[in-house]
Amino acid sequence: MDKVSLKDKLKDIKPDIPIDEDSLLKYVELLDVQYNTSLQFSDKFKQLPLEEIQKGFAEGKPAYLSVPLKIEEEDLLASYKAIISFLRENIPETVEPIDKIEASRESGEIKLSELSDALFAGNEEQVHEAAEKIQVDPEVLEAILAWSIQPIFEAFSRALSGETDFSSWKSGRCPVCGGPSRLEFIDEEGHSHLKCQFCGAEWSYPEGKCPYCGNEESESIIEIPVKGEDKFRLMACYKCGGYWKIVDERKVGTNIPRSLYDIWSFRLDLLASGQK
Ligand SMILES: [Zn+2]
Ligand SMILES: [Zn+2]
Repeated sequence: MDKVSLKDKLKDIKPDIPIDEDSLLKYVELLDVQYNTSLQFSDKFKQLPLEEIQKGFAEGKPAYLSVPLKIEEEDLLASYKAIISFLRENIPETVEPIDKIEASRESGEIKLSELSDALFAGNEEQVHEAAEKIQVDPEVLEAILAWSIQPIFEAFSRALSGETDFSSWKSGRCPVCGGPSRLEFIDEEGHSHLKCQFCGAEWSYPEGKCPYCGNEESESIIEIPVKGEDKFRLMACYKCGGYWKIVDERKVGTNIPRSLYDIWSFRLDLLASGQK
């Protein structure tokens, strides 16, 4: 993925995605911006406490907690600057909220790293309060924060994936960032894995097991038939009500980068959310 941009790969999968071309292009460009931004953080994660991390895995503790990963204000700021510059140029409706966020950040009214810590600790309330204070849509602030944190986690995840293996990790949540995954893929050898959409980590996970609650009783896990769909499968768990998608590389090949699998199979998300 070093040289080939995701944008170049988009043309092959565009017909499968029910999103207008312009929005789709911007989404993929944002992924490219995030990837390029993540490269500047690669050096940060050269010496990882692998033993601690593996010990954490055995206890079900994701790597970012074992390290523990501390997001520095200056790194977050560098990432955030790349994201807002892309948004300002490409998505006009973000210009006004970004101006407000910028003004409050510069005046010290908000601090990005504090908000990102809150977001990561699941304390969305704090982010929403900050958004209300500076009169920005909370979802916009949350999205900009998440997009800005992501490249740092991508770099961390990449470094870790090259240094250690995730075979002792048994959970359906991401071994690196602890996030949930709704994306399973089956490699060419027929092995099943989950992929994290937040940090990009990939780890083995048994096929037919719910990634959310770990249920593996075949009678309460079903494949939802999708008319006209021959690439992806939509799965649902009747125990927890969650759904996930399966991309089978024995069927679709490996020409498309896995970071595009989630958007490639977006049609299934539409169907799944419509069913609720
Ligand atoms: Zn992750
Ligand atoms: Zn479940």
